[in-house]
Amino acid sequence: MKIGIMGGTFDPIHIGHLTAAETVREGLGLDEVWFMPSHIPPHKAEAGFSGEERLRMVELAIGTQPAFRTLDIELRRGGVSYTVDTMSELAEKYPDARFHFIIGTDMVNYLPKWERIEELANLTRFAAVGRAGYELNKQAIPAEVAECIDYFDMPQLEISSTEIRNRLKKGCSIRYLVPEKVYDYLQRSGSHAAYARTTD
Ligand code: ATP
Ligand code: MG
Repeated sequence: MKIGIMGGTFDPIHIGHLTAAETVREGLGLDEVWFMPSHIPPHKAEAGFSGEERLRMVELAIGTQPAFRTLDIELRRGGVSYTVDTMSELAEKYPDARFHFIIGTDMVNYLPKWERIEELANLTRFAAVGRAGYELNKQAIPAEVAECIDYFDMPQLEISSTEIRNRLKKGCSIRYLVPEKVYDYLQRSGSHAAYARTTD
């Protein structure tokens, strides 16, 4: 089995995440892509939406794409979500799977700072997609990590969860930036209003 891991905070999930996953699924002929919300990401403040809300929105977003699944391993483990811990757990649990961890250019540039990156590069390959607004800085990546990265072009979508959260706070529309079911969920659940009260 060739499995893509789409890791992220998904605070909330948007069409940039889905397009990245679909691009790599097609490009590598992946059997499945597992969307994995982090508990607390190492590189940023705690998420605005709860883990439960973020996971629910991911479930709604992946909808009827049969190759897409959710994975709550990091939410269950709690604490700071280091990818290297997660991938060693997955390698043990699925010894026959080959993993491809999907990341946008912002995260590719950040790879040298990831926890135990050399160990991680032995557990998974990376599938990098271009992300609008982020120039790739290949020189910064150590050779032993660089050889584990496959690159893919995707339609550029200048969208981020930060932008969506800012729009929610200002009361601006996020329709079409997130899948329709996620939009409906945010409208219905009142998380929309709850989020507007939080600070970040
Ligand atoms: P935030 O603004 O809160 O950081 P985000 O939009 O960057 O949110 P994350 O959950 O941090 O979303 O990202 C998860 C993964 O998806 C990362 O590897 C990121 O590079 C990638 N990604 C997010 N948005 C896009 C996009 N518009 N195009 C390509 N890749 C993206
Ligand atoms: Mg991000």
